[in-house]
Amino acid sequence: MLQRMEVFDGEKVIKEFEEMTKDAERVQMETLKKILEENGWAEYLQNLGLNGRTDPQSFKECVPLATHDDFEAYIQKIADGDSSPILTGKPIESMSLSSGTTKGRPKFIPFNDSLFETTMQIFQTSFAFRNKQVPLGNGKALQFVYSSKQFKTKGGLAAGAATTNVYRNPKFKTTMKAIQSQSCSPDEVIFGSDFHQSLYCHLLCGLISRDEIESVSSPFAHSIILPFKTFEQVWEELCTNIRDGVLSSWVTDPSIRAAMSKLLKPDPELADLIYEKCAGLSNWYGLIPELFPNAKYIYGIMTGSMEPYLMKLRHYAGHLPLISADYGASEGWIGVNVNPMLPPEMATFAVIPNIGYFEFIPLKANAQDQEQEGDGALVLQENKPVGLTEVKIGEEYEIVVTNVAGLYRYRLGDVVKVMGFHNATPELKFVCRSNLLLSINTDKITEKDLQLAVEAARNVLAAEKLELVEFTSHADITSEPGHYVIFLEISGEAKEEVLRECCNRLDKVFREAGSVSWRKGKATGALELRVVRKGTFHKIMEHSLSLGSAMSQYKTPRAVGSTNTAVLHILCSNVVNSYFSTAF
Ligand code: AMP
Repeated sequence: MLQRMEVFDGEKVIKEFEEMTKDAERVQMETLKKILEENGWAEYLQNLGLNGRTDPQSFKECVPLATHDDFEAYIQKIADGDSSPILTGKPIESMSLSSGTTKGRPKFIPFNDSLFETTMQIFQTSFAFRNKQVPLGNGKALQFVYSSKQFKTKGGLAAGAATTNVYRNPKFKTTMKAIQSQSCSPDEVIFGSDFHQSLYCHLLCGLISRDEIESVSSPFAHSIILPFKTFEQVWEELCTNIRDGVLSSWVTDPSIRAAMSKLLKPDPELADLIYEKCAGLSNWYGLIPELFPNAKYIYGIMTGSMEPYLMKLRHYAGHLPLISADYGASEGWIGVNVNPMLPPEMATFAVIPNIGYFEFIPLKANAQDQEQEGDGALVLQENKPVGLTEVKIGEEYEIVVTNVAGLYRYRLGDVVKVMGFHNATPELKFVCRSNLLLSINTDKITEKDLQLAVEAARNVLAAEKLELVEFTSHADITSEPGHYVIFLEISGEAKEEVLRECCNRLDKVFREAGSVSWRKGKATGALELRVVRKGTFHKIMEHSLSLGSAMSQYKTPRAVGSTNTAVLHILCSNVVNSYFSTAF
């Protein structure tokens, strides 16, 4: 429940959460009832014949499981300006753009005030648990947050990244004021027109307030690392700006310049101090606590596709704890990290039972079951979804969400594992995206397989003191037979034999990952490793931002489909070396 309070009462928030999670089944039923009462007369539900019923049984009988494709026509109608009750009782007034990294184009997701309220609720709950472990004082927060450009859909609805819809809501500031340290950056920096300029000024604001900074955060681990990688390049320029009290002239956004001029005063002492700190660091290890000596933790999503960034993040973090942020999507929040001090690799998320209605499709079928059943062809068993309190510890599920903004039995596309229960609500570990990441013939390579393969290559590189900066993959079916391609960006110059070894290791993990046709000696060619020029993945990010993604929500696509021609072109035109596996 959202608390409307000037002074945040964390104990009360935790108490309410405990009560709610003890009664998770009943709270889920009430949540579904409320959603259906508020939206039952919307076109989508009317067509399915619910006729005012709000119980889970009728809901499951009448309403089919659906994907974004099934909602697309309805969402488009709303975006085009039809304000009749289509998906929700009250008209939808804005759209979120999900990152849509796999397909290469962002998707529209309906956003409304109720979704905003659930966002504030999870922020409060999460903060209450975090603050109990590591209380913050009256200092400031260095938050690398950016607003994407908001534009209007054909029908005049505001559209932008979900984070942008949240930051731009007038109630955001008042709610957050009570629960977090004040941001060290002025709004003009957050809402700046160019993220490079905003990022630079976030750093500058952090440095000016360096002694007051208590936490360093961004929605995702990637967006925490990026500023410090940038810092490595621009630290002397930052020192000069601080010394002279003058912002670099390439920061041209007038509102940012005006806001920064109020903060920047010539401070040679601070400039000297930062200069000395930087000169004294070896390979930037422990940069964050060195710059911000009173920081207590680093906070952001560090699980799932963010795990590959942990090594780099720990390098910058030195002794500072990394706290993994909560689990959700543009489609709605799901679970809160109630054990914030666990390392990110062990982070779980306790589902908040009143934040949406959740179902779980058991994923029991393994590659062998599939092979037997399908006579060589892959047959996926579709199991019946179970309710929130019916899930079993140790099992994996695909998560299905019914939210407060017009999505009903929506397959989010994530696989989660139940690690335990917090009272009666499950604690989930994020496993991976559920759609096959890569597939040639009947092979099945998941995001998790790819991560494991890349870890094997990372170890080979690390032994040579080389850093794997970024990676992605592609199933190339233009060759005969088709084959997998892994693109790696590496810092430093790797010797040919090292790269060949990386390539063989990647292939080995792929082949062990449960590929049906390989085991039968069929049709997939040797894996290809393509090394790309430094900065290639930065170009991909810039491309994605130009399509409307927000920096704060950006995730590197881990698989690039052949229809995503723009990103494939960036990758292929930057290849410096390529190797084929000789492992098999
Ligand atoms: P988007 O709506 O584009 O920001 O992406 C939402 C997706 O990000 C989710 O469906 C997950 O796949 C991923 N995600 C969000 N939160 C987490 C988390 N805490 N751990 C791992 N993956 C996450």
